[in-house]
Amino acid sequence: MDKLIITAAITGSRIHRSKTPYIPITPGEITQSAIECWEAGASIAHIHVRDSETQIGTQDIKLFKRVVEPLREETDLILCLTTSGIPGLNLPTEERLRVLDLQPELASLDAGTILLGGQPFINTPEFIETAALRLKEKGVKPELEIFDTGMMTTCLRMRDQDLLEDPLFFQFVLGTPWGAPGTPKALLHLQEMLPPDAAWSVIGIGRAHLPISMMALAMGGHIRVGMEDNIYYRRGELVKRNSQFVERIVRIANEYGRGVATPDEARRILKLSEV
Ligand code: ZN
Repeated sequence: MDKLIITAAITGSRIHRSKTPYIPITPGEITQSAIECWEAGASIAHIHVRDSETQIGTQDIKLFKRVVEPLREETDLILCLTTSGIPGLNLPTEERLRVLDLQPELASLDAGTILLGGQPFINTPEFIETAALRLKEKGVKPELEIFDTGMMTTCLRMRDQDLLEDPLFFQFVLGTPWGAPGTPKALLHLQEMLPPDAAWSVIGIGRAHLPISMMALAMGGHIRVGMEDNIYYRRGELVKRNSQFVERIVRIANEYGRGVATPDEARRILKLSEV
């Protein structure tokens, strides 16, 4: 079984300070939090940035640079930049894809339309295809975000059409109120659909975080943690630092006997480059 890759999703685009005072908002806070996660054992940082006035997500490349540049200088993290924009506001395609100019190793690609936060997060077939082709052109590997079975079907079809290239990397998002539930059966169903050489990781949203993470640990999948997906360390207790989540997964993985991948080991597992 491969070593465990831990992704830290630092802030996302939607969780406001009114929900938790600990959510990183400024480029400095996002950078600092990602560094702490790297020190704790994360090998991938999944990055959104926030508009300082509205506090919600933005695809402003100048703000991304203020996170990407110091992280490249100070860490060897694999950077996974979001192409989601802001679910519900549905930004134009080119605005969502502008982050690819920063040449990250990974970029998220949402493989279908879903309700998020009660609003439609629109990913048309045209968007998904345009994004997949652009990623391919730029040599950026997609992190395929799968909220439901239909998105898996879409990715497998795109693989058949050579719009997506093996080996694929999937991120299963389980436990949103509008998508696949955070249950072992839902995870098994998606995992059974994987192409043979694909790598996969899980996001257990909210209360699904630990149960789904433990399934992935045992099944050979990888784990994403962070305040984008879950703001509670345990029931009724807000997490104060993203690195607390990373530290907990590292402790459990060590006890379990599955090693945690360094960024370079993660690059080899995900076939990102010849390292
Ligand atoms: Zn995200």
